[in-house]
Amino acid sequence: MTRPVLSRRSILAVFGGGLVLARSGQALAQAAFDTNPFSLGVAAGDPLPDGFVIWTRLAPDPLAYGSGMPRAPVAVKWEVAADRGFRTVVQSGEAVARPELGHSVHVEVGGLEPGRPYFYRFQCGSERSGTGRAKTTPVVGAALDAVRFGVAGCQAYEQGYYTAHRHMAEDDLDFVFLYGDYIYEGRSNPIYQTADGPQDNPRIHLGGEVFSLDDYRRRYSQYTVDADLQAARGSAAWFCTFDDHEVDNNWVGDHDPEGAPPEVFLLRRAAALQAFYEFMPMRKSAFPRGASMQAYRRAQYGNLLDVSFLDTRQFRSDQPCDDRFNSYCPGVESPEAQVLGDAQEAWLFNDLNRSTARWKALAQQVMMMDLNRNTSGGKGVNTDSWAGYRVPRNRLLGHIRDRRIDNVVVLTGDEHQNFAGGLWLDGGQPEGRPIAVEFVGTSISSGGNGSDRRADYDRFMAANPQLKFLNNQRGYLVCEARPDRWTTQFKVLDKVSDRDGTLSLRQTLVIEAGSNTLSAA
Ligand code: FE
Ligand code: CA
Repeated sequence: MTRPVLSRRSILAVFGGGLVLARSGQALAQAAFDTNPFSLGVAAGDPLPDGFVIWTRLAPDPLAYGSGMPRAPVAVKWEVAADRGFRTVVQSGEAVARPELGHSVHVEVGGLEPGRPYFYRFQCGSERSGTGRAKTTPVVGAALDAVRFGVAGCQAYEQGYYTAHRHMAEDDLDFVFLYGDYIYEGRSNPIYQTADGPQDNPRIHLGGEVFSLDDYRRRYSQYTVDADLQAARGSAAWFCTFDDHEVDNNWVGDHDPEGAPPEVFLLRRAAALQAFYEFMPMRKSAFPRGASMQAYRRAQYGNLLDVSFLDTRQFRSDQPCDDRFNSYCPGVESPEAQVLGDAQEAWLFNDLNRSTARWKALAQQVMMMDLNRNTSGGKGVNTDSWAGYRVPRNRLLGHIRDRRIDNVVVLTGDEHQNFAGGLWLDGGQPEGRPIAVEFVGTSISSGGNGSDRRADYDRFMAANPQLKFLNNQRGYLVCEARPDRWTTQFKVLDKVSDRDGTLSLRQTLVIEAGSNTLSAA
């Protein structure tokens, strides 16, 4: 028989089946796991020079209401080691997985050395998690040869497999930027319509559109039980940001495109952002407060790269032209329009002014290039992108130009296609060298297999001379910053409709430092 261990603040007991319950002087609950509770894997995020967040979530029955967990706090041990075999454990401790947070665990590990990989794992009773790997960031300002990272997101579960994640897990990256759409909120849809007629979706969502906290939790669980996604989450520290589908398609601020009143929509946003926090390796600074989350933040990689992670949803004003894609109206020119909001914009401008790093990345969600979506000779913009917000767009690009801030690289998702091109003021018509460069990553799975060239490729490129690259397949980006050049690799899959898709390097584009101009490698 195992005896309870008494401590000042809690009583911990180990039962035969291995579950450890943490209680505050109350009667001890008794429970055991029929299956391994680490079914959702492990993750790490938001690295600093001395540590990172490590994450897991106890879920012996991940798709069930309550995930098969008792309604009680549960103690979880964690270890961080210098080696994959855990011969040299450098930090360890115990955390409490609480039912209020769906038995998620977020540990802010400190006391580590800068710029090197570590390994981490969790234990609950006799049950052990898999092993994750993450790197700390280098000393701020240190001279670096290179930093190499992944850019990924838009992983609609129903539309394809996560083969891209499996490959990204093998890329030995310094970090991964998630541009959002980790989940999609929509109802299950067994069949989708293609140009060739109806087809079966390879996988289907459980249940209807998600609204409540438990709805979102189950949706995140369904996505996160995927082994390929778990491989990527456990392979490197992620910087996670959300876009629209973590809450609802094309939401901004307190505005619900489905028409719920703002005070009602904010209840849904609160549930959605709590679930996002529960499933992402975020720091305490991002702990949800009501319907809000502090999601914009910065990372620094030596003297080489500063990354500003932006939040283009919470503070944005409503889309112009009733958010009709490929439209144009006076609202596009509204002087009151906001993308980042005053506080975030001031924070970003200040960071850009003060940054001494060679490269300044703006890691964000919706396209900054002002593309003309109308290939029939008219004018139409994606109103859910910076192109629908001409005044704040010009304010940001004008700031970068007027302050002569070179080597700004914008990293984006959302479009479910690969794009690369230059950024100019006012409609983006190329005149002189670009102010900055944008790479838009495609999707992990959203949109299904796709094809190398969209049907209107020639007309689309002709209507948008700022574009240097356009591809309509699934995959992810690998970016490498070096003192003299930036390189972006576009990796694509021939198919995502089954697990055997083949990955290839579709395109490599470079920016020579100081040029703000894209060229083929
Ligand atoms: Fe998406
Ligand atoms: Ca999106």
